[in-house]
Amino acid sequence: MQLKYFLLSTLLGGAARAALNEPCYGSGGRAGVCVTTTTCSSGGGVTINGGCPSDPANVKCCSKASCGASPGNCRWTSDCGGSSVSNLCPGPAGFKCCQSTATGFGGYGAPAIPAVGGCKAVAVDGARKIVNAWPGRIRQIYCTRDCACGSGSDHCCGKATDMMCSDAGGTPTISGRQIAEWVMNNRGTLNLKYVIWGQRIWNPSQDAVAPWTSWRGMEDRGDVTQNHWDHVHVSYN
Ligand SMILES: [Zn+2]
Repeated sequence: MQLKYFLLSTLLGGAARAALNEPCYGSGGRAGVCVTTTTCSSGGGVTINGGCPSDPANVKCCSKASCGASPGNCRWTSDCGGSSVSNLCPGPAGFKCCQSTATGFGGYGAPAIPAVGGCKAVAVDGARKIVNAWPGRIRQIYCTRDCACGSGSDHCCGKATDMMCSDAGGTPTISGRQIAEWVMNNRGTLNLKYVIWGQRIWNPSQDAVAPWTSWRGMEDRGDVTQNHWDHVHVSYN
């Protein structure tokens, strides 16, 4: 956990845990950022309620449909298919005015699929299916972790894959929602145990099929990667 978040959550008494400056989906599914309502309005953005559900009342999801020269809209730089212009959007440096007509994400070459071994066949097979369903959207795949199986994470058993869908670890994106919902809808063929995206979790043994916005919320773990805003975590049975 980063120090600033530790201090913030300490000050708030651990009740409302803010994920300030992290991604969210604004009105109409536009790229958004969790900022204070003051920051949003002074930056020309529009807020929606409930887009940053773990946050205090004055922190909301802020989006800005038009910025700078046309075409331009505020997006995370990792989701921008063109050049990005600074100082035209509310929030942190990674949220910029994207000068592109492209509305899609990614454009990556095919990532390396882990070999079966430490990474179990069910995970390798699942990763391959996800990559094939979403060409250009997965940049990199992590499977195993150096820890004993049974010590907590399914990565320790080689039965989880992190589908990195932004430019680099720690870079925010909103690319993952479609992938995460696809994983839910293909839970049978993937032998899915659970899936996590954007600080929300879905488990087929506990949860009804629903849009990501209705998935169970998770605590704020303090940064973009730990809150799953740069990758979709998929655990397999
Ligand atoms: Zn993971």
